Amino acid sequence: MSQRQFLALHNNFPGRHPFSGIARTNALPCGSGAVVGGVYPTICLINHSCVPNAHNNWNGAEEHETIHAIRFIEKGAEITISYDRGGPSSARRAFLKESFGFTCTCSGCAVPASLLEASDSQRIRIQELDAAIGDPFRMMNSPQEGLQDC
Ligand SMILES: [Zn+2]
Repeated sequence: MSQRQFLALHNNFPGRHPFSGIARTNALPCGSGAVVGGVYPTICLINHSCVPNAHNNWNGAEEHETIHAIRFIEKGAEITISYDRGGPSSARRAFLKESFGFTCTCSGCAVPASLLEASDSQRIRIQELDAAIGDPFRMMNSPQEGLQDC
């Protein structure tokens, strides 16, 4: 990545230290729980959607970030990934505003209030199941319950 490409990336923390602001805005963790991140000339240009068509993941064997389609993407359609950790729209919007400085208006957030309430309930349930499935103590002591949740 050239310095020109790096400095052209979005900076949600403008001020006296543009390099750290750009890194804070764009760096993707190099693995789950990693304390270091990578900034990429193309991947960092991918916009957010709460209903993304792709997923980013650290490839430890290749030592770089990879993008995987998670559903069919029409030719010419924008590739999107999720910047947030899921949950109800209010939590997603607050996180995106705080961390990236924008209010999400994606197709998942632009639904009528009546549908948004149902979507939020489903997303809360998904987070609960994800936490329960990922609980190593529960998997050791109650593997059947974990499998039922899956
Ligand atoms: Zn959204």
